[in-house]
Amino acid sequence: MASPDSVGVMNIGTFAEATWGDAVARCPKQMAHGPCAGVGDDHSCEVPGFGPCTFLDVLDAWPHPAPPVSGQRRDPSPAAWTSEASAATSTAAFRAAAAFRAAAARRPVVVADLPAAPLSADGLRASADLLAPVADACLLGDHGGARVQFPPSYRARLLTERGVVVWAGVNGRDRNRVALEGEIAACVDAGVTALHCVTGDHPALGHRADARAVFDLDSVGIVALARGRGPLVSAAHAPAAPPADRRLSRLIAKIDTGVDVVFVDHCGGPEGVGDAVARLRDTGFDGLVLACVPVVTSAATAAVVASFATGRLPAGYLEAVLDANDPREAGVRAGADLAARMIALPGVDGVNLSGGAEPGHELAAAGATADITRRLLGASTRTAGTSGPAAGPRTSPTTGAGVAP
Ligand code: SF4
Repeated sequence: MASPDSVGVMNIGTFAEATWGDAVARCPKQMAHGPCAGVGDDHSCEVPGFGPCTFLDVLDAWPHPAPPVSGQRRDPSPAAWTSEASAATSTAAFRAAAAFRAAAARRPVVVADLPAAPLSADGLRASADLLAPVADACLLGDHGGARVQFPPSYRARLLTERGVVVWAGVNGRDRNRVALEGEIAACVDAGVTALHCVTGDHPALGHRADARAVFDLDSVGIVALARGRGPLVSAAHAPAAPPADRRLSRLIAKIDTGVDVVFVDHCGGPEGVGDAVARLRDTGFDGLVLACVPVVTSAATAAVVASFATGRLPAGYLEAVLDANDPREAGVRAGADLAARMIALPGVDGVNLSGGAEPGHELAAAGATADITRRLLGASTRTAGTSGPAAGPRTSPTTGAGVAP
């Protein structure tokens, strides 16, 4: 017969699992490991009109990091189902990842979001031709303003064939686990340097709001698919998103699954990033850490950055750029200065120049991002068609100081 104590524990456990499971089931993205980074400061769900995030009332009922919910259709561990694709690796991808690690061991690195017109190979190449020669890698994201675009693996192939160092983004919004396996295998085969694994925004936030959301896997499940194939595996950390006191445990779930690189999202500026990185390093994480820096050089780029980072940028950052006589110059200077402060923080290995542009402004945004990179690192221009980060230490014209460790 069970003791009263053990009965009590069992009851609490049963209650907690049921409560947590209910929150997962009601969540529009079925986030098995806890709330996504889209929770509003008022605790509202990222899906307009949905109401409060389903997790915020039940977090105290569950230990963190939250274990997977048994019986859910989403199994965060793909070990239970394997396929031929899960064994796909690439020598080129292993080499590219090793080259990036070597560069990061010598000096701060820059991974730059690549603004590019959707559904245009020529547009993608044109933007990459501006940015790739100076950045260590181009991040191919999946912004909500361009819900219909070439698949990640096709964009990756277009650019790796051009010699661009590609950091490919994959998310769970539009593809189930089988489709994701194919995408990841194709990215690996293309020789990408890294795979950035995120859950993704709900379709309700984009230009295809009526599309059915998939979310068969969240970021943890996608990391599990991506690890061990050759490319570095990265994930996002959103220290400022509610509930802020649970964000590190969410990140640890990703790290324990196989993350090599953490992108620390906008969280108010260097002070917030410094605190978040210190806590992350205190956990023993010895991978690479990149701090996100907003690229705001025009109204067209400000609109995009504001759509995902409002309230999480340094105070007055957007306004100072937009109110300047020359917003482009002001934005390049502000971006380079902020990036220099980020890379000076202990535990930070580099930056992610983060942003995008409204339709028709992608090429200009790519050029401005390249200028920020040049100002930050004094990068010597690589010859188009050569892969791999520029060699040798660089000197920051922003700080006037050497940035090689
Ligand atoms: S904010 Fe994110 S985690 Fe919370 S209910 Fe909405 S989709 Fe789910």
